[in-house]
Amino acid sequence: MSYEPLVLVVEDEPPMRRLLRSTLQSHGYRVLEAATAAEGLALFGTNNPDLVVLDLGLPDLDGLEVTRRVRAGSATPIVVLSARGREADKVQALDAGADDYVTKPFGFPELLARMRVALRHAAARGHGHAEPHRADRRSRSTSTKRTVTLGGQEVRLTPIEYKMLATLARHLGKVLTHKQLLTEVWGPSYSDQSHYLRVHMAQLRRKIEADPARDLDCWTTEPGVGYRLREDPNDA
Ligand code: CA
Repeated sequence: MSYEPLVLVVEDEPPMRRLLRSTLQSHGYRVLEAATAAEGLALFGTNNPDLVVLDLGLPDLDGLEVTRRVRAGSATPIVVLSARGREADKVQALDAGADDYVTKPFGFPELLARMRVALRHAAARGHGHAEPHRADRRSRSTSTKRTVTLGGQEVRLTPIEYKMLATLARHLGKVLTHKQLLTEVWGPSYSDQSHYLRVHMAQLRRKIEADPARDLDCWTTEPGVGYRLREDPNDA
């Protein structure tokens, strides 16, 4: 099966952004472009890219801060572009959670090689796109009966609850926004009906969590953004 990884390019200089887009596309990547940190974070939240190429020098927000915000909710690999001679920036970017960096001006063979490595590492960590089996380990489920087994006990779910849980599991480790969940579970015309989500999510949590007031050991609520099923329960 061929799969073209989706890359989010966050770069404020139009010529560089265009060059990145055309080069990445010609190497088999799908590309999303953002000219600002805000745009980048918004696209990240709604498109769930496989990798982020991030310029550290952005007009609205430091690239380091973008790295931290992406990393706070996701393990998606980040390769940063830093200006020549800013050694401290690179170290800080790696500390903030970037996977790798290239120094401007850079050669595309180098960037492409670092992207491949970052994607391989991500796949090995299990944050690749085709990882539904990992969710099954936690909540063994059968689609016909719509039950999940938690702590040896079978819990019966409604079709909607089951679909919500399955959708979260499909995006394991990544933040799923309210809009994404609504679109995937109810359909595109429900994307702003967040009250549906609140009601059904509360119901689902009552069923599957020992203490619904607290986050489940494998579950995180990202206030104002969405929900995330954690891959590793220790990764709060
Ligand atoms: Ca820049």
